[in-house]
Amino acid sequence: MSQDNLMEKIVSLCKRRGFIFQSSEIYGGLGSVWDYGPLGVELKRNVKDAWWKAMVHGRDDMVGLDAGILMHPKTWKASGHTENFSDILVDCKTCKKRFRKDHVGDTCPECGAKDFTEGRAFNLMMKTYLGAVEDENSLSYLRPETAQGIFVNFANVVDTMHKRLPFGVAQIGKSFRNEITPGNFVFRTREFEQMEIEYFTQPEDADKMYEEWIAERYRWYLDLGIKKETLRLRPHAQDELAHYAKGCTDIEYLFPFGWSELEGIANRTDYDLKQHAKHSGKNLQYKDPVSGQEFYPFIIEPSGGVDRATLAFLTDAYCEEQVNDATRVVLKFSKHLAPIKVAVLPLLKKNAELVTMARRLKGDLSKIFTTVYDDTASIGKLYRRQDEVGTFFCVTVDVDSLTDHQVTVRHRDTMKQDRISIEHVKEYLGQQFSTNNS
Ligand code: ATP
Repeated sequence: MSQDNLMEKIVSLCKRRGFIFQSSEIYGGLGSVWDYGPLGVELKRNVKDAWWKAMVHGRDDMVGLDAGILMHPKTWKASGHTENFSDILVDCKTCKKRFRKDHVGDTCPECGAKDFTEGRAFNLMMKTYLGAVEDENSLSYLRPETAQGIFVNFANVVDTMHKRLPFGVAQIGKSFRNEITPGNFVFRTREFEQMEIEYFTQPEDADKMYEEWIAERYRWYLDLGIKKETLRLRPHAQDELAHYAKGCTDIEYLFPFGWSELEGIANRTDYDLKQHAKHSGKNLQYKDPVSGQEFYPFIIEPSGGVDRATLAFLTDAYCEEQVNDATRVVLKFSKHLAPIKVAVLPLLKKNAELVTMARRLKGDLSKIFTTVYDDTASIGKLYRRQDEVGTFFCVTVDVDSLTDHQVTVRHRDTMKQDRISIEHVKEYLGQQFSTNNS
């Protein structure tokens, strides 16, 4: 499919079908923030649930955490964010537009001029004040990453969960960055959600764990349906690495606007725990329960964005197919991610007996699958609507259903239709979901 206007098609479908709306649209919109609508919130929740299930519940060496967005201001001194979390900003002297220096060469992408101001550092942390008085002492920040909430709770987790190395802590939550040039829909925004893991390991095992996490995180995207040819690994060059990092690899996705970062996996060495120990005065070393030896573990950090992953899943699922003379738009989400699993569609909304049967079926299926009921258009239109949002199965109840107690199950991808006894439809759908690998 042509990539030319793919992004426009996705943005338009997201708005039209209730996935993603522009923030505060009635006031002219806020370009750097997006709101997830009724279907978007289901999709995003499925992305987070799939991550949590695979990364926390599916492993013996992981636990979860949910730290506050606001943290003690000293956290950001220790982490280096107060000093270094900056992008270099330049202004085009001709059109006055502002850019991140590393995003432009020597030519203004807006007007083509080659006359920029000197670069100056711009801290991306969002300031806020805690309490009634706005002064130096009440200055705080909205976290620019969730990771620090894990580092400062390292000793709490070790003490309460009796975890032995290697183990990891996972967290999903909002982060905020005052990005200079937000854009590309939900790819770069000022308020976004992250899914981060801090994996603590013996220093001598860190290189091996780093490789294992790269493979594990790469596989996660493929397991949820991303096509192999649209996903790649990009190891950072030595001069791209933070001074404390031993290695970093990005997982990149081929977005309509080009290859871009979905997630980064870094070997952060023992930098973070040492910094927090130094600034807090607390002993954050790990004590080996067998040898009694105390040391700072190394940390492997797989850090991904919920919104970027959601955009990648939406993009990868988008399909246009020619069916007879019409174009069928289908979001071919994997079974785990589809916001709606089943739609129950009564063929005659004026037939009370048929409506009762369809409503009862909907209620019954809802106990297991995310199910909707829709009778607001003709069946052709209803199918098209469900295809467009990626609904896995449509179940139609028609007049014959009243006598033969059977319903029609339509498969999203093949459009194949099966006539199934109404008592067995739940079991049938369950089987279809368990045998479908996508
Ligand atoms: P970039 O180079 O694109 O600014 P980054 O390398 O600064 O990203 P990290 O600090 O490694 O990003 O953050 C980890 C993850 O959080 C990213 O891989 C991305 O998925 C997500 N993320 C970071 N900044 C944003 C943002 N402004 N909007 C949406 N997601 C973001």
